[in-house]
Amino acid sequence: MEIMQIAKPYFEGLANRELLLPWCHSCGRPHFYPRSACPHCWGEKYEWRAARGDAVVHSVTAVRANPPSAFKPLLPYCIAVVQLEEGVRMLTNIVSDQPSTKVGDRVRVEFAERGGEVLPLFRPVK
Ligand SMILES: [Zn+2]
Repeated sequence: MEIMQIAKPYFEGLANRELLLPWCHSCGRPHFYPRSACPHCWGEKYEWRAARGDAVVHSVTAVRANPPSAFKPLLPYCIAVVQLEEGVRMLTNIVSDQPSTKVGDRVRVEFAERGGEVLPLFRPVK
């Protein structure tokens, strides 16, 4: 199955400002990114469930110069890998007034429209 077809429920969820994860029917675990088979057990049946949206920063870096042209208005910005409470990790941006996010900081999902697409971004929890 083509990746865009596999990930279609994920993008439909984002359009509704929901962060959906595929949960495997065989082993009962979620995974991310969406793919044709579960990376834990190779199961091919799963259901989509909304994540709570709470995460911890796993790794982070601040971009201060020379971004891709579409990202120029966002400078400086943080790119991070966050680990969701459900156990999966995802690459995202950290939305913050101060680019001082650290590994281990707690963050929560919020949704932003960029270029006509809704993206899941994360903001530090005070
Ligand atoms: Zn599985």
